[in-house]
Amino acid sequence: MKIGLEIHFQLKGSKLFCSCDTEGEKTDFVIERKMTPVMSEMGEMDSAVKYEYIRNRKFIYHTSTNSCLVEKDDEPPHNVDYNALKTAIALSMGLHCKIVDYVSFMRKLVIDGSNTSGFQRTGIIGMNGYIKTSKGNVNISTITLEEDAARKIMENEEKAEYSLDRLGIPLIEISTEPDIINQEHALETAKAIGYLVMSMDNFRGEVDSIRQDVNFSMGYGRVEIKGVSKLSFIRDTVNYEINRQESLNEISRILKIKGCEISNFSDITDIFKNTESSMIKKAIKSGKSVFAARITNVNHLMKYNNYHLGKELADVAKNMGIGGMMHSDEFPGYGISDKELNNVYNLLIKGENDGIIIVLTYKNNIDQLLSLLRSRLNKIINMDLAETRAATGNGETRYLRPLPGKERMYPETDVPLFEINGNLLNEAREIIPETMEEVNSKLNNEYKLSNIESDGIINNNLYNTFVKLIKIYNEPRTISRLLLQTIPELNKKYNSKIGNEDIIKILNIAKNAGWDRSNIEKALEIFTVKKININELIKMDELKSLNDDEIKKIIAKLINNNSITEKNIIPSFKKETNSTFNAKKVIEIYKKLKN
Ligand SMILES: [Zn+2]
Repeated sequence: MKIGLEIHFQLKGSKLFCSCDTEGEKTDFVIERKMTPVMSEMGEMDSAVKYEYIRNRKFIYHTSTNSCLVEKDDEPPHNVDYNALKTAIALSMGLHCKIVDYVSFMRKLVIDGSNTSGFQRTGIIGMNGYIKTSKGNVNISTITLEEDAARKIMENEEKAEYSLDRLGIPLIEISTEPDIINQEHALETAKAIGYLVMSMDNFRGEVDSIRQDVNFSMGYGRVEIKGVSKLSFIRDTVNYEINRQESLNEISRILKIKGCEISNFSDITDIFKNTESSMIKKAIKSGKSVFAARITNVNHLMKYNNYHLGKELADVAKNMGIGGMMHSDEFPGYGISDKELNNVYNLLIKGENDGIIIVLTYKNNIDQLLSLLRSRLNKIINMDLAETRAATGNGETRYLRPLPGKERMYPETDVPLFEINGNLLNEAREIIPETMEEVNSKLNNEYKLSNIESDGIINNNLYNTFVKLIKIYNEPRTISRLLLQTIPELNKKYNSKIGNEDIIKILNIAKNAGWDRSNIEKALEIFTVKKININELIKMDELKSLNDDEIKKIIAKLINNNSITEKNIIPSFKKETNSTFNAKKVIEIYKKLKN
């Protein structure tokens, strides 16, 4: 088994080739485009491109509050965003890559409409790196900086609609070699890379900010699985793919012996003139016809136990925008009567081992569908499973299109070569992300946090914040408790979102006023509830620190009334006042007075 990963993540700030912000929303102004593919310089047309062109759809783009003429492809790209470039270099360094001397952007052909220009700009930044894992190093082949595609809003047979808000957002792609040996190892590798990614300051961090593609092969051709959204789905997706390919291998062995062919489609609309099936009734009413074809020797292979050949074929129809494809392993069903079914089977001369597929579509789609079904069935019988698949939302995968060929890339002549000079390299070195292991060892050894605390900080991606706050208020345990407990609890209790800037301001006050943890927690709560200006906090009675004279008065009173000791002075002192006080100072004054 061979597995490789491609991890994409977005950066926030400015778009890659214009100064539009990465954050914005779609507006109601729309533009409309249509794509036409052309031959590459080598005189060939890419098979993935050809496949998209067959669908012949219209593309509608909603402009957004963060798009300009560059996103509409009405103006050439501006210079590459410096910050995004610096981040890509730093990450490449963190993954031990060789950094290129010049960045040369290329155009990668895209014809599904997700780019107004029909291509995506992409440039290699780092090469030949690695990441350490428990099963040895996984090599990194390339790290590229590219522009994100437009966000799809809807699509159907005739058109696809996109919003330009996401188009042009800087996207870093990390590609590993197929060095990953199993699904657990894939998960571990993705986690380790993901940790580095998430610790970059300008990681966008919105839902959908990280997208993972899994390249998988178990000897039947490379399958490229697009868009695995969650980390845990990497494992599920690989498991699904192993089962799917093993089951297809059994199907292939059976069909190689027995033989298998798809007949031509017959128009069987007449049989369903008076049908009770609401699905078929609706299709006929909208001008579609009912077609059926016989597939030899696939009875009980279409959908039975672990066999799902029907789904493999239905995906072809689905990609053409044809939703309704039924097959004989599902019958009786869909409200089709026994009589209708018998008529269909008799008309098509269905033998005992044959399967039947029924499709609801327009007449002009049927030749195209038949040729795609035949070529897909042939590929399966020959166990040539190389293709692009899409990850579904539940850890499964489905057929998307053929694998793209090499003809997709050509040089972007609108963006000049960018030299990576010594200054830029030095700036990037300042922000090289640390690995999970390095961070863990620092939290345990340097800051003396427990394993639970350091795990909490790592898993919640709080290390950068932790380091920032420690520089202001140098009490690691207090900071760790604030980040892992106090602030999440306050946010939940008051449905608030305390920002890092606010915490920094409060900690600065805490440092100057000699506040301890309980004072800081009190201040955070008052700030959250009353939503007052942070500078007002220090003037509040509840938070005003007692001065030395006030502390002396209370201690004198305590010494007179009680048998207090150095050990119980703080709790007793607390009972005497609502104001905040510096505990160290209280003990110091107590010792002085006692003597
Ligand atoms: Zn723009």
